[in-house]
Amino acid sequence: MAVLLVQGAGLSPHAEAFEIPGEVSVRLRPLKGLISVSGRDLALHSTGLKALLLKTEGFQQWQLRFETLGGEPAWTVVERDSGKSLARIQGRFAELRGEDVRVDLRPSPSHLRLVAAKQGARFDLQLVGLLALDDYVHGVVSAEVPKNWPLEALKAQAVAARSFALAKLRERARSGRDWMLEATIMDQVFDHARKHDLAETAVLATRGEVLMGPHGVATAHYHADCGGHTDEPRDVWGGGEAMGTATDRCAKRASSQWRMVTSLSELTKKLNGQGKLQFASSIAGLTVVQRTDGGRARGIRLTSARGDVARLTGEDLRAALGYMNLRSTKFEVKTFGDRAEFSGRGFGHGTGLCQWGARGLAADGADYRAILAHYYPKLELRSLTKSPSDLLAALSP
Ligand SMILES: [Zn+2]
Repeated sequence: MAVLLVQGAGLSPHAEAFEIPGEVSVRLRPLKGLISVSGRDLALHSTGLKALLLKTEGFQQWQLRFETLGGEPAWTVVERDSGKSLARIQGRFAELRGEDVRVDLRPSPSHLRLVAAKQGARFDLQLVGLLALDDYVHGVVSAEVPKNWPLEALKAQAVAARSFALAKLRERARSGRDWMLEATIMDQVFDHARKHDLAETAVLATRGEVLMGPHGVATAHYHADCGGHTDEPRDVWGGGEAMGTATDRCAKRASSQWRMVTSLSELTKKLNGQGKLQFASSIAGLTVVQRTDGGRARGIRLTSARGDVARLTGEDLRAALGYMNLRSTKFEVKTFGDRAEFSGRGFGHGTGLCQWGARGLAADGADYRAILAHYYPKLELRSLTKSPSDLLAALSP
């Protein structure tokens, strides 16, 4: 297992060292109590591959059954065709390895952990993938960028995704969680089944390269379309490390522009329900009172006919209306009776790399280094993996 110490690359003597684990644990999706598993050369292990419990050869079809007996969790492995019980494993975890593995028919990583996470009196079952860091980055780049985009745009995306993942791993290194990353927009979208070759080429071509800030590997945010200007994380979420901003030509695409209409009474219900608002009557006024340098709605003032007043951020509003509906906070808004009409540009939070902008820059001949310098002017591109000893030397303050 390769264990590398990664800290602030000598940029800050206070940067905290952490270890890049040999495998990254990613929660893929929830599972039901009866799970079908197929694949070649399937093997069942106890947690951390400490003990081999069952080893098979050739194509296998299993059913895994989760049960609690006297409150104690356990997994039973049954051969699907014969119904023969093959193994039983006590505890919250079961680990599987194999080739061409499918779980409930879906193509899945070759090393998996089934986790029973206690939720009150019962257990929630989760499928967790255990992947080498770059195998994970491959699945993120594949989910984020289509295979017909220019390679340099995919390489820039690979460096951003690798940096983002390492920064999250560092943040959670001592959290004691059952998994470190979510395979959704909560962290980064990862999809094993959509892995494509151009994404793999991009990952290999940028092996070990990350974006560094003053505190070490940076949480390099990225999004689909900035609508013409990017913003700093602190202006969008009220916090986060500075990455620098960029002016972009991506907004020239017709599909960068969007309109959305919502009912103010529906919006009031949603925001009240989420605890974001305590209005006695429906929202009557919705005004942008503060904007970011990039033109995003930073502060929004809401009023009701009964005199309620509240203030929200643009991202609060996106969360309430749905990130796919209110595509960005770079909008103008008008209200007519119970209707609010938004017209805007861009898609996503608007910090860090803009994917449509990166595509345009790459098509104009920019390489990934130039693309990264454009979107992250305050971060520095560094290589971490010449060799572990080079790395350690490079990281000494
Ligand atoms: Zn852009």
